[in-house]
Amino acid sequence: MIDIQKIRADFPILRQKVYGKPLAYLDNGATTQKPQTVIDTLMRMYSRQNANIHRGVHYLSEQATEAYESARRTLRDFLNAALSQEIIFTAGATAGINTVAFSYGERFVGAGDEIIVSVMEHHSNIVPWQMMCNRKNARLKVIPITAGGELIMDEYRKLLSPKTRLVAITHVSNTLGTINPVKEIIRLAHDAGAHVLIDGAQSVQHIPIDVQEMDCDFFVFSGHKLYGPTGIGVLYGRRELLEELPPCQGGGDMVDCVRFEQTTYNELPFKFEAGTANYIDAVGLESAVNYIRAIGIENIAAYEHELMNYTREELRKIDGIRLFGTAENRVGTFSFLLEGVHPYDTGMILDKMGIAVRTGTHCTQPLMQHYGVEGMVRASMALYNTREETDLLCDGIRKTGRMFFSRPA
Ligand code: PMP
Repeated sequence: MIDIQKIRADFPILRQKVYGKPLAYLDNGATTQKPQTVIDTLMRMYSRQNANIHRGVHYLSEQATEAYESARRTLRDFLNAALSQEIIFTAGATAGINTVAFSYGERFVGAGDEIIVSVMEHHSNIVPWQMMCNRKNARLKVIPITAGGELIMDEYRKLLSPKTRLVAITHVSNTLGTINPVKEIIRLAHDAGAHVLIDGAQSVQHIPIDVQEMDCDFFVFSGHKLYGPTGIGVLYGRRELLEELPPCQGGGDMVDCVRFEQTTYNELPFKFEAGTANYIDAVGLESAVNYIRAIGIENIAAYEHELMNYTREELRKIDGIRLFGTAENRVGTFSFLLEGVHPYDTGMILDKMGIAVRTGTHCTQPLMQHYGVEGMVRASMALYNTREETDLLCDGIRKTGRMFFSRPA
C-alpha cells in the first residue's frame, strides 16, 4: 500500500506554492520531480566521489567506476535484462533511439527495406527513423489508430512483410495514455523476421517492465521521467544484436586499440558509450530506481490506476470537455480540449491556479493532424499525485469554461 503523505514529503519541490497557491504538478509526462534521496545522491557524488571513471587507478576513480557499474547492475535488475552488458547508458530516450536508428541502419537496412512506426509516436520515435530511411533509401510505414487512440492491429499485420526490418513502437502514448499491446506487436514482428524497439519513455515509471518476458530487441527510456536526473537514460539491447551493430559515436572509452591504420572497438556496453559517461547522473538514476523499488512498482501501478479511474470519471463529468484517448488499458495521462477555448488559454488559466499542465502538440504533431487539432491540454499523473489534485484540476477546468462562456457550474 502507498502512504501518499509520506511519499509527498519525499519530494521537496511539492511543498512550494506558485502564485500563492499550493502547487498541483500534473506535467509528469514531460518530466517528474525528484525525491530527496536522488538529490542527496547527486550531492554525495559531487562532494565525495567524483573522479572520471574507467581511467584512473586512484581511489576516487575506482570508487566512481564501481558506483557507475553498480548503477548498471541495478538497471539490469530493474528491467530484468539477462546481462549488464545489455544496459547502455545514454543521454535519454531520444539518444537511445538515435543510436539504434544509426547503428541498426548501418548494419541491417538497405534500399527498399521498411521500418514501421505508429501514428501516436513521439517525434523522437519518428524523426530518427526518417533520417535513417533517407540515408538508406528505405521506407517508413505507419500503423493507423482508432478514433479512441488504439493501434489498429489488423492494419499492423498487413504492414508486416519480408521487407520489414524493424518496428519501433511506444509502450505508452505520451499524449493519449494508451498502453499498447507490445507483447503481441513483438510476437507478430518476430514471426515476420523483424526486430522491435520499444520506446519506454512513458511506461517504466508506471508499470513493471521485464524485457525478457516482453521479448523486445531494444528498449529505451529517460531517467528524468522516472524520478531520476536529466541527461541520463538507458538503451537496453539484446546482446547478440548489439554485438553485430557498429558503434554510432567514436571517442574515448569505446575503443580497444587505436591505430591510424585501423581501430578496434571495446566490448559491450562500452562500445556504445563514447566519451566521458554521465556517471554522476547514472548513479542518481540508480538511486531513483532504488526509491521506486522500495515502494514497489506494482504498488505504484495499483495506486496510479485507481487515481486514473477517478480522474477519468471526474473529467468526463465536465461540460464541454473533449477527451482524447479512450483506451481501457491506459495510464493516467489525459489530453483534452475545452470546447471553444484555445489550449494555451486553458493552460495559462490553470497555471494561475497553481496547476501545472502541458499545452501544445506534446511532440506528437502527426497525432494532432490525425485528430485535426492544433494542440491539446495534457494532465499527466505520477505516484505523488492525489484525488485532491484531480479535484483542483477539474474545478480549474470548469472555472476556465465559465470565464469564456457563462456555463452553469
Ligand atoms: N518518447 C516518448 C513517448 C516521450 O514521451 C518522450 C519525452 N516526452 C520521448 C520519447 C523523448 O524523451 P527525452 O526527451 O527525455 O529524450
